[in-house]
Amino acid sequence: MPTTVRTRVAVVGAGPAGLVLSQLLADAGIESIVVDSRSRSEIESTIRAGILEQNTVDLLRAIDPGTRVDTVGHRHDGIELRFGDEAHRIDFPALVGRSVWLYPQHEVLKDLLALRLGAGQDLRFGVTVAGVDEGDPEHPAVVGTDAQGEAVRIEADFVVGADGSRSAVRATVTGSRSGGYFREYPFAWFGILCEAPPSAQELIYSNSEQGFALISQRSPEVQRMYFQCDPDADATAPSEAEIWDTLQARVPGTTLHEGRIIQRDVLRFRSFVAHELRRGRVALVGDAAHTVPPTGAKGMNLAIADVVLLAEALRALLAEGARDERLIDSYAERALDRIWKAQHFSWWMTSMLHVAPDATDFDRRRQLGELRSVVESEAGRTYLAEAYTGWPARA
Ligand SMILES: Cc1cc2nc3c(=O)[nH]c(=O)nc-3n(C[C@H](O)[C@H](O)[C@H](O)COP(=O)(O)OP(=O)(O)OC[C@H]3O[C@@H](n4cnc5c(N)ncnc54)[C@H](O)[C@@H]3O)c2cc1C
Repeated sequence: MPTTVRTRVAVVGAGPAGLVLSQLLADAGIESIVVDSRSRSEIESTIRAGILEQNTVDLLRAIDPGTRVDTVGHRHDGIELRFGDEAHRIDFPALVGRSVWLYPQHEVLKDLLALRLGAGQDLRFGVTVAGVDEGDPEHPAVVGTDAQGEAVRIEADFVVGADGSRSAVRATVTGSRSGGYFREYPFAWFGILCEAPPSAQELIYSNSEQGFALISQRSPEVQRMYFQCDPDADATAPSEAEIWDTLQARVPGTTLHEGRIIQRDVLRFRSFVAHELRRGRVALVGDAAHTVPPTGAKGMNLAIADVVLLAEALRALLAEGARDERLIDSYAERALDRIWKAQHFSWWMTSMLHVAPDATDFDRRRQLGELRSVVESEAGRTYLAEAYTGWPARA
C-alpha cells in the first residue's frame, strides 16, 4: 500500500516554475506539496539558463527578500549583434526602458529553495512521479515512488505539472506524453564553461560565415560560450584548442580570453507547445507545457510568466471562501498569448542568426539583409529589445 498524503495543490517539479508557484500559493494561504525526482544538490548544481527578463527580476524581488539577483547578478542594458564586418549594439533602456539580468538559473534555484524550505514548505526530494490518478476528477492524485523505492500517493484539489520537458504529468492533460506542436532544428549549440575573465561586457550574438556563436558571461572568473554545431556532435570529441579556434573564428574583431574548459555539452534545439495546458484539475506550466530554442533566452522567463497566471487562477479557485472557475477556465488562453509570441521570437532569433546546413548563397544574402533591416531601423531594434527584455504583463 502506498503512503498517502493530502494537500490542496500537488506540484510536480522543484525547478523555477514549481518553486515560484509554491511561494505564490503560500502567499495566498494555499498549502502545497512540491516533489522532485532529484536531490537538492543536483538541482542547485545543474547549469542552465542565465538571462532573466525585467518581469522575472521584478517578481523575484517582490517574493524573496533574500534574492541575490542584485548582488550576484548583473544588469545588462544591451546586446551586440555581429554579422559581416559589422557590430551593432541594441540599447534596451533607450529603446524600451527595460533591461535584463545575467543571473544563472542554479543561483535562482538556491535562493528559492532557501526561501521555501525556510518557510517550512513540504518539499520532497527523490520522489519520482509516474503519473496522475484521476479516479476522482475533483481530487486528482500524484502517484510515484520515493528515494527508497516506496510507493507514494499525494491526493490534492489540484495537480500542477512543473516537471520539465520530459513531463510525466503531460499525458494526463494532452492524452499523450508528446501531444503538442513540435519543430526540430538542423543544428545545436556546443556550450562550454571556462575559467577565464569576461571577453566582453555584454552578450555578443554573432552570425558568421562559419556559423553562429554566442559569447556570454557568468562571473568575473567563469564564462559561458556557445557555437553552432551538428545536433549529433560528440561533446567530448574536440580538443580545447579546436574549441577555441572555432569560437575565435566566429567572432572576428574580438580577442577571446581563453581558459581551462570545465564543462562542455551539446544542446539540441526544439520548439514545442502542448496541445492542451489544462484538463479539469490538472495543469501544466513551464517546460512541461512548452520548450523554446535557447537563442532568445525565453525558457525560464516563460515558465515564471505561466506560473503568475496559474497562481492567480488557483487563488480564485481555492483560496478560503473562493470557488471562482473563470480564471482557471481561461488560463490556457491567457498563457498561450505570451507562449506563442515567445515561440515566434525564439524561432526568429534562431533562424536569423544560425547558418542552416543547406543554406544557399541566396539564403545567406537574404539573412544579412534581414539583419541589416533590423539594426538600421528603430522599429526593428525596438521589436528585438521589447521581446528580449520581455513583454510587460497584461493588466
Ligand atoms: C543549456 C540551457 C540554457 C538555457 N538558457 C536559458 C536562458 O538563458 N534563459 C531562459 O529563460 N531559459 C533558458 N533555458 C531554459 C530553462 O532552463 C528552462 O526553460 C527552465 O528550466 C524551465 O523551468 P521549469 O521549472 O519549467 O522546468 P525544469 O527547470 O526542467 O524543472 C523541472 C523539475 O522537475 C523535475 N522532474 C522531472 N520529471 C519528474 C518526475 N517524473 N517526477 C518528479 N520530478 C520530476 C526535474 O528534476 C526538475 O527539477 C536554458 C536551458 C538549457 C538546457
